[in-house]
Amino acid sequence: MKKRGLLVVISGFAGSGKGTICKELMRQHDNYAFSVSATTRDPRPGEVDGVDYFFITKERFLEMIDAGELLEYAQYVSNYYGTPRTYVEQKLQEGKDVILEIECQGALQVKEMFPEAVLFFVMPPTVQEIYNRLKGRGTESEEVILKRMKRGQEEAEVIGRYDYLLVNDDLDETVRFLHETVNSARYATERNREFVESIKTGFVEFLKEHV
Ligand code: 5GP
Repeated sequence: MKKRGLLVVISGFAGSGKGTICKELMRQHDNYAFSVSATTRDPRPGEVDGVDYFFITKERFLEMIDAGELLEYAQYVSNYYGTPRTYVEQKLQEGKDVILEIECQGALQVKEMFPEAVLFFVMPPTVQEIYNRLKGRGTESEEVILKRMKRGQEEAEVIGRYDYLLVNDDLDETVRFLHETVNSARYATERNREFVESIKTGFVEFLKEHV
C-alpha cells in the first residue's frame, strides 16, 4: 500500500462545532496532523498564535499568496484565511492524514487540486442552533454574526459537492464516523491506482518467469 497520507477537509457553518470535532479527533488518534491556517483576523480571547492560527497582517498574507506559500486561500467576512503549503506537503509525505478545517471556497479549490481529498461538511441540527451558538460564544458583534449567517446561506449551496455529511448530534459518535470513513476512504480503489498497477505488473513479471 502506498504510505502517503490523505487530505481530510472539514467545513461547516460558523458555530457548527467543527472545531470541537477536529480537536477530539486529534486527541483520540495519532495518525492525523492539523494544519494551522494563516489569517488576517484578530485573535479571539484565548486564541494562541501558532496554535489556533498564524495571525498575520494583510500585507504579509498578500506576500504569501504571491510567493506561492499558500495551498489555498479565501476571503471570509472581510478577512483572509489560507493554508500554508509546506506543512501540509511535509506531513502527507510522512504518511500523516492532514486535517484542513476550512470554508467552502478553499475546500473546493483543494478538491480540484487533490481529487483524492476527502471532504466532510458538518451539519447543525437547525439554523436557529447556529445563531444561538454564535451568540452564546459572545466573541462577535451582532453585525458580524449576521454576516456569518449570510455566508452560511451561501455555503449551503455547495454542500452537495462534499463527499460526506457529519451530523453533529453526539460528539463521540461523530468523531467515530469521521475516523472510520477516513480509514475506508484510504482503501478506495481510486485512491490506490499505483498499488493496483504494481500488482498487475507483478503478475506479468511472475508469469514471464514461470510459464
Ligand atoms: P473563524 O474566524 O471562525 O476562525 O473562521 C472563519 C471561517 O474560515 C471558518 O469557516 C473556517 O473553517 C475558515 N477557515 C479557517 N482557516 C481557513 C483556511 O486556511 N482557508 C480557508 N479557505 N478557510 C479557512
